[in-house]
Amino acid sequence: MTEVVEAPGAESAQELKRITHWINGTSVAGEPGRSGPVYNPAAGIQTGEVDFASAEEVDRAVQAAKEAFASWRAVSLSRKTEIFFRIRALVDAHREDIAKILTAEHGKVLSDAKGEVARGLEVIEFCCGIPELLKGGFTEQASTGIDVYSIRQPVGVCAGITPFNFPAMVPMWMWAPALACGNTFVLKPSEKDPSASIYTAELLKEAGVPDGVFNVVHGDKVAVDAILEHPEIAAVSFVGSTPIARYVYETGTSHGKRVQALGGAKNHMIVLPDADIDMAADAAVSAGYGSAGERCMAVSMLVAVGDAGDELVGAIKERLPKVKVGDGMQPDSEMGPLVTREHRDKVASYIDKGRDEGATVVTDGRETAPDGGGFFLGVTLLDDVKPEMDVYKDEIFGPVLGVTRVSTYDEALRLVNENPYGNGVAIFTRDGGVARQFQFEVNVGMVGINVPIPVPVAYYSFGGWKNSLFGDLHVYGPEGIQFYTRGKVVTSRWPDPATSKVDLGFPQTR
Ligand code: NAD
Repeated sequence: MTEVVEAPGAESAQELKRITHWINGTSVAGEPGRSGPVYNPAAGIQTGEVDFASAEEVDRAVQAAKEAFASWRAVSLSRKTEIFFRIRALVDAHREDIAKILTAEHGKVLSDAKGEVARGLEVIEFCCGIPELLKGGFTEQASTGIDVYSIRQPVGVCAGITPFNFPAMVPMWMWAPALACGNTFVLKPSEKDPSASIYTAELLKEAGVPDGVFNVVHGDKVAVDAILEHPEIAAVSFVGSTPIARYVYETGTSHGKRVQALGGAKNHMIVLPDADIDMAADAAVSAGYGSAGERCMAVSMLVAVGDAGDELVGAIKERLPKVKVGDGMQPDSEMGPLVTREHRDKVASYIDKGRDEGATVVTDGRETAPDGGGFFLGVTLLDDVKPEMDVYKDEIFGPVLGVTRVSTYDEALRLVNENPYGNGVAIFTRDGGVARQFQFEVNVGMVGINVPIPVPVAYYSFGGWKNSLFGDLHVYGPEGIQFYTRGKVVTSRWPDPATSKVDLGFPQTR
């Protein structure tokens, strides 16, 4: 499957892994001319070159998926369940291998990569129950001799466009329910860390997923536009930044597709004066710097209420020198590098920007980044951040945690509710009444009460509000099943000579 080619722009003379498309059950090399670099972020060197699909190559994948659809949707639910149990067993058996692929191209530490696979696996496990999930309703004798029932059917060829930060889990959120519901799939993963998708394709084939049911095309805007405009694609799931999510939603729906497009985030963690400050500080450090802050559910802004601020900042500051930043493959590393040099530099630029805007730089991650060529940045803490500052408004997507101080719970709530994003939020308090009030009045899709990263379990659905989601349905869980199916209601009567007669009137219940 993997060929070795000499690619332009390599930072070393090493041989580069070539990452190809996967169409109709086999690896397909892209047409020459368009490709992109893949890096090992911990070493800061290029390790691969990924093919970028043209519109024609995307069309080949879509045609393969279209051809496979008729027979895949007809496969019985018990057979599909059997295949899903095999997929589950194979992903479980290869957790470690998948995690290593993630660490090699994304940079996240191995333990975090294993956690990613585990959370994706939970979605696959949920899909093993597809016969139960697709059960319809039945009404006997709705009218005399007439029964009515509802069924859910697959929509056809579905596509998924995914971000760099969860190269295995986010695709699993999409292809697992899509396939379980009887659809076929074309995945366009992030071009920054594309190998996990090809490894997944190989596992699905081994599990017995027929050729053409799952396809992968790599690439950039050209491939994305070809998906959004393709007349044979019925539904598109997207996860990525807000401007692209909006574009995908608007373009896809204008081409008649069902679209769910999840965007960026600015997640607040409110700490009330009665909170357990040690618990809150542990949570803030874990949720702010885990995966180097490259999580859509990362906490990026702490809102300290009343006199919680000084104690909280002190407790976090104390913890920061202990965070071990290093190569994700090393077992003692707790935080790896950022995904690319360009992204690292952009994140680092927010430290000066914050200082210029008037924030206090408590810890500067540039001073603690490991030496060498890797795309590392240490942990940064900014205090006295104000809502009008760019460091508050922008999704920095790196290990930069801001603290803003407010006097009251109402002020904290207003900040969250006025923010254009609405992905995740957390409140830390010992007061159950306030927590319950918060859950009632906060305008955010996923809420944690003393839980900093409230990613829903697989049998609930994941999704934000406001600029964090364009579309109506969240991903995976019950809403995922709804997204990948459409309803049909059948009204039926069987010939009964005793009740049959000509009646030209409008059908009425009898
Ligand atoms: P991104 O928006 O740059 O890329 C996402 C996908 O869109 C990729 O497959 C990419 O190839 C494609 N793309 C990029 N530019 C495009 C363009 N101009 N036209 C068409 N397609 C384009 O996002 P990213 O940097 O890979 O991922 C990080 C972002 O994803 C963050 O904003 C993060 O919050 C968000 N994210 C959100 C969730 C969520 O559930 N809401 C989950 C994970 C990541």
